[in-house]
Amino acid sequence: MLDRFNRKINYLRISVTDRCNLRCRYCMPEEGVQFIPHSQILSYEEIKEVVEAAVPLGIDKIRITGGEPLVRKDIVELVRLIASVPGVKDIAMTTNGMLLHEFAAPLAKAGLHRINVSLDTMDPEKFASVTRGGDIRRVFAGIEAARKAGLSPIKVNCVIKTASDEPDALAVKAYCLENGLQARFIKQMDLHTGEFGIVDGGSGGDCRNCNRLRLTSNGMMKPCLFSDMEFSVRELGVRKAIELALSVKPEKGTVNLHNCFHNIGG
Ligand code: SF4
Repeated sequence: MLDRFNRKINYLRISVTDRCNLRCRYCMPEEGVQFIPHSQILSYEEIKEVVEAAVPLGIDKIRITGGEPLVRKDIVELVRLIASVPGVKDIAMTTNGMLLHEFAAPLAKAGLHRINVSLDTMDPEKFASVTRGGDIRRVFAGIEAARKAGLSPIKVNCVIKTASDEPDALAVKAYCLENGLQARFIKQMDLHTGEFGIVDGGSGGDCRNCNRLRLTSNGMMKPCLFSDMEFSVRELGVRKAIELALSVKPEKGTVNLHNCFHNIGG
């Protein structure tokens, strides 16, 4: 499907939960966050219905995000359901890696193709500080398990302050080169002020070539990360919500005062 600016929209990012087993400083405030009540979260059957309605409209690429998708119960079953929808060509997931060593093999067997793992530093203490308690060894174990499971490519999402020549970014880049991983550098973004940049090594933030829509875990179809516009798939029906989101998709992102990163999946 094409939007008003003739951009081909074929990519749906699905946030399956706003919960996470880490508390990264640039994502979750110290005082904690108000989570979406479980009763409002889309069931796996509802998510499958969204994908089934989206494919005939032109969506063939799906990314599963969170919060942290691997904390949602039976997540492997969701991958199986999405992989069973004819016309879905590419299924990817973004994870913080804490549980990946346990899930990589069943996810690959269920139909997951590739994975992005968050890693902002190679320094264990700094990692524990940035994530408020994460163990970096679990990320390395997860990446190894993903490699063994045949997930490919394995990309590493590294959040940077301003530039990819920062010491931590250079260390992550070297680690990726040594291990045949693809590094992506994501400038810290701010939804509320509209600060964002094009992902170095990826396509995010490149509004002129934007190809995506987003589905939040409570069923809101969003035309853009940096916009407050959203349409309920439960109230409007999936097709209508997608068509409305597409019809108002902005030429470029501005601000999003409504969401936070942990409930929209970046
Ligand atoms: S800010 Fe909006 S239009 Fe720009 S790349 Fe992101 S989602 Fe697409």
